Amino acid sequence: MSSIAAVGESYQKFNPRAYLQNNYMPPRADFSSEDCVVPWKLRCLAEAFATGDIHGRTLIDVGSGPTIYQLLSACDHFEEIVATDYLEVNREVLRRWVQNEPDGFDWSPYIKHACRIEGKGEQWKEKEQKLRGKLRQILPIDVHQPEPLGSQLCQPADALVSTFCLEAVSPDRPSFERALRNVTTLLQPGGHFLLIGALEESFYLAGEAKLSVVPVSEADVKEALRKSGYHIHDFRAYLMPPGLKIGVDDVSGVFFVHAQKPPVA
Ligand code: SAM
Repeated sequence: MSSIAAVGESYQKFNPRAYLQNNYMPPRADFSSEDCVVPWKLRCLAEAFATGDIHGRTLIDVGSGPTIYQLLSACDHFEEIVATDYLEVNREVLRRWVQNEPDGFDWSPYIKHACRIEGKGEQWKEKEQKLRGKLRQILPIDVHQPEPLGSQLCQPADALVSTFCLEAVSPDRPSFERALRNVTTLLQPGGHFLLIGALEESFYLAGEAKLSVVPVSEADVKEALRKSGYHIHDFRAYLMPPGLKIGVDDVSGVFFVHAQKPPVA
């Protein structure tokens, strides 16, 4: 089995509920402290969209998993948001959230926090409803394919978001770089890419699944973006504090990048 096939196999045991519990509940989701990792991620995204530079008809989120926090500050700036994931279990979690089915993960603290830091006086219920309305497509994706969405892609997106996906599904640096090149085909020339990911991580847990991650440094991420032709507008790094090292992974930190695909000459 190729190592990409082995990664695909290891994801078959991915448990969305355990993943959400490990990463999106306290202590990692402590909204009383801006120094905590979850508020840090939300602020990076809110500030990027607040520039007003990132907007258009369609935004594609690559490897959404069972989460929607990464789309909260995007929803005012796009007519349609397309969520994607490799696993049906994750797409089902997202469909259930869009349909407001009972017993889903409670994203309300995230939505309230996003409204607070955006500072536009928006009511959280309004934002929740807006995002549900804009999330009209939840599609299967494989970032290891040269065309990750295949024939499902009608036209390249105006912007991409991807959080904790590419390094978490790539067995080594060359496949990480190739995956980045593949997802770049989903973006139109001149389009913006907000990429968040783990720094120097080698594994994470999601229930019974232990997923291998390719450890990447800040320099590796910048180099991969450069090789795919991006211009980097903003690059930030977060150092995981000892109190948030809780045994569910061995992550050292988190990177955030706002990059842009060059317009056609
Ligand atoms: N974006 C979410 C977040 O911010 O927490 C989830 C990230 S999770 C670490 C990695 C995600 O990549 C999982 O949802 C997994 O199903 C998805 N995935 C696994 N293999 C993939 C592939 N070949 N192409 C795209 N996504 C994949």
